[in-house]
Amino acid sequence: MTTEIETVRTVADLRARVSAWRARGGSLAMVPTMGAIHEGHMSLVRQAKGLAGHVVASIFVNPLQFGPSEDFEAYPRGEARDAALLAEAGADLLFAPGAGEMYPEGFATTVHVADITEGLCGASRPDHFDGVATVVAKLLLQCGPDVAIFGEKDYQQLLVIKRLVRDLNIPVKIVGGAIVREPDGLALSSRNAYLSAEERETAPLLYATIQQAAHALAAGHATEHALESARAALEAAGFRVDYLEARDPETLARLSGSVATARILVAAFLGKTRLIDNVPVPPRA
Ligand code: AMP
Repeated sequence: MTTEIETVRTVADLRARVSAWRARGGSLAMVPTMGAIHEGHMSLVRQAKGLAGHVVASIFVNPLQFGPSEDFEAYPRGEARDAALLAEAGADLLFAPGAGEMYPEGFATTVHVADITEGLCGASRPDHFDGVATVVAKLLLQCGPDVAIFGEKDYQQLLVIKRLVRDLNIPVKIVGGAIVREPDGLALSSRNAYLSAEERETAPLLYATIQQAAHALAAGHATEHALESARAALEAAGFRVDYLEARDPETLARLSGSVATARILVAAFLGKTRLIDNVPVPPRA
């Protein structure tokens, strides 16, 4: 059975729909996505449904956040399937604008969040967070939700968005959603589809390794040693590590020595596929 969901493609239609709900006193949550919907996105929609009367999910593959040699063209697209899954999770409305609606001729504004965007993904993906901050600022202003949910999977992105709404006084609460994983520990990601069968076998080691490092940190080991062992384990398994760091969970400030609280964040390539993941210290399991 396919569940139907109303789809709007213009800001005017989105606002008309939202205004009608607001007139009846309804609260609103938003879940922005780039499509290729999986259980991770669906868990955010379910969480949103528990926080507000109506849920708007958006699908927009944002060209501004892809680098010139990244996978914008190849990024998986399939709106009919995505719409059915979002509806099944409880979304009330899908906002799926075209590029011309988001960035009409003459579009000239960039939102840049400093500091927290430097390092980690910001180091290897220049301009990525400008693209994210610009599109998320637009989506939040277009929709005007009370709350918006972003996955902890993209941990640095979540903190960038929290900074953005504080700095620009955008009246919305930003809430993080827990990372949904495959039974073997691999974090769900649209990009997992790029992995070969052999790479897919290796991929769960990413989570296992940072989880082991989280346990080592919690046991009082110095971050440098724990991360060095983790990096060696990943490289031995065939990963090319982009970054592997322990950072302050709120500010992303660098940490060293023995620490009680941290977030371990990693990005690593398996073949051509770049995977990211992160875990808290102390670890949850
Ligand atoms: P994307 O479509 O990849 O831009 O992701 C849309 C939202 O879903 C972002 O807030 C992501 O952090 C979140 N997300 C992606 N993968 C997962 C996952 N495995 N668990 C939880 N949230 C996720």
